[in-house]
Amino acid sequence: MEWTGGCLCGAVRYGSDAAPLWASYCHCGMCRKVSGAPYMAFVEFPAGALRWTAGQARAYTSSDGVVRRFCGACGGSLTFEAEGLVFIALGSLDAPERVQVQRHCYTRDRLPGIKLADGLPQFPGPFGGKGGKPQD
Ligand SMILES: [Zn+2]
Ligand SMILES: [Zn+2]
Repeated sequence: MEWTGGCLCGAVRYGSDAAPLWASYCHCGMCRKVSGAPYMAFVEFPAGALRWTAGQARAYTSSDGVVRRFCGACGGSLTFEAEGLVFIALGSLDAPERVQVQRHCYTRDRLPGIKLADGLPQFPGPFGGKGGKPQD
């Protein structure tokens, strides 16, 4: 498989033959809590393209209709899933540098010390919906 990734300890692995569609940084407070980082980045793969290839991720329902998967052994964040779409945590990819991130979401929740100078579009709200179209 051309696109592969997994958790820190390697127990849970996934892959996709199809290239990512979209990638977004998310500055929301829940991503902060789940990752322990100031913000996260997520990559959307085409529906059905993603396959789990090793281990079994644990699931946590972080809000209505939203499931986040992670490794039960090392705690590594793996997915954000909503509306039938699966977004992979960018940092869990084996080669995250191959992904071009297109935008920032939930910038209304951004930490004040984070200065965005990459010139990417910024959206105050979520990135949900088909094709990852931004919403306010
Ligand atoms: Zn792990
Ligand atoms: Zn978020």
